[in-house]
Amino acid sequence: MEINEIFVTRSSMPPYEDYIEAIRPLWDSHWLTNMGDYHQELEKKLKEYLKVPELSLMVNGHMALELAIKAMDFPENAEVITTPFTFISTTHAIIRNNLKPVFCDVKLSDGTIDETKIEDLITRNTVAIIPVHVYGNICNIEKIQQIADKYGLKIIYDAAHAFGEEYREKGIGNYGDASIFSFHATKVFNTIEGGAVTFKDKNLYDKLYFLKNFGICDAESAVEVGTNAKMNEFSAIMGLCNLQYIDHVIQERRIRNNEYRKWLNDILGIRFFHDKPYVKKNYGYFPIIIEKNYPLNRDELYDLLKSHKYFSRKYFYPLTSDQECFNNKYKNIKLENARELSKRMLTLPLYEELQLEMIKNISEIIKNCL
Ligand SMILES: *Cc1c(COP(=O)(O)O)cnc(C)c1O
Repeated sequence: MEINEIFVTRSSMPPYEDYIEAIRPLWDSHWLTNMGDYHQELEKKLKEYLKVPELSLMVNGHMALELAIKAMDFPENAEVITTPFTFISTTHAIIRNNLKPVFCDVKLSDGTIDETKIEDLITRNTVAIIPVHVYGNICNIEKIQQIADKYGLKIIYDAAHAFGEEYREKGIGNYGDASIFSFHATKVFNTIEGGAVTFKDKNLYDKLYFLKNFGICDAESAVEVGTNAKMNEFSAIMGLCNLQYIDHVIQERRIRNNEYRKWLNDILGIRFFHDKPYVKKNYGYFPIIIEKNYPLNRDELYDLLKSHKYFSRKYFYPLTSDQECFNNKYKNIKLENARELSKRMLTLPLYEELQLEMIKNISEIIKNCL
C-alpha cells in the first residue's frame, strides 16, 4: 500500500494505549472467549447505545443474519422477499438457511426496497421480508410493517449499515422482528470482526445463545443444531474501546458528508441522497449517482479517480442476484431500478480522519469533467 493512496474507508482504531491497557486483564484470567466478561459488558453497552431491548453479540454480521433467520424456524424452501442491491451476505444468509430469495426492486430515490412492489411478490409460501437499510438509508418502516401484519410475515432488517441510527427517536434496531448489525473493520463501528442481532422477544435471546454456541445448553446436552458464532474477548474489548469514540467518529463523518455535499451540490449529472425527516444518520457512506447527462459513465469516473489514487467503490455492483454462484437463476427477474442504480452508483472515500482537502480534490476532479 502506497502512503498517498486514499481508500473508500479506513478502519477506526482507539488510541493504542487504550487497547493495550484494556486487554491486560486477559493475561490474568486466561479467559479468551465463550461469552466472557467483556462479551457480556459489550452486549450491555451496545444495548444502551443502540437503545434496544435485547441484543445478542455475534462473531460477524453475516452469522448474525444467518442465525436471526435460523431462530425463526421457517419451513424449508419457504420464500423470503428481499433486495439484490446489497452486499452478497444478505442473499447468502437466506439461501444458506434453505430458503428461497424472492427479489424485489428498490427505489431510485434511496436504494431501499420498493414497498409498493412487495405485495405482488407474496405467495402462500412467503414467510418473511428481509429489507436492507442500504448505505444507512432507512426503509419505509411503517409500510413494510403494515404489509407484514396483513400477511402474517416476519421482518428481519439487514441494518449492517445503520449502526447508531434512529427513526422517530427510537434505535433502528427496534423495528421489525429482528435487525442485524455488522461490526466489521470497514463499518462505522467495529470490533475487528463482529456483529449483533437486536430484537424485542426475550425468548430469542436464549435461542440465539444456543445457536451461536453449537446448540449447547449445559455440559451434556445440545438443544439446537447450532454453529459457532461466538465473539471472542479481544474483539469485545476492541468494541468497548471503539464505543468510547463513536460519537466523535459519527460527528467527523457528518462534517465530511457535508463537505462533499457542499462541493458536489451544483454539478450537473451528479446526484446524491438527501437526509429524511425523523432519521438520525450515522453518515457511514457517501454514495453518488452518476446520471446520464454527466460526461463520464460510472466506470470511467471510477477509473479517473483511481488514476489520481482515490479508490472509490462500485457499491453495489453487480446485483447479488446476478452473481455467478447463482448460475443465471435470477437473471431474468425484472429489477429495473436496482439495475439502474447498480450501474450508476459510486461510493466515495469517507472516514473520520479523511482530510477535508482530499474531499475538495475529489470533488474538483469530478467537477473538472464538465
Ligand atoms: C457488511 C455487511 C454484511 C455482513 O457483515 P460482516 O460483519 O462482514 O459479516 C451484511 N450485510 C450488509 C448489507 C453488509 O454491508
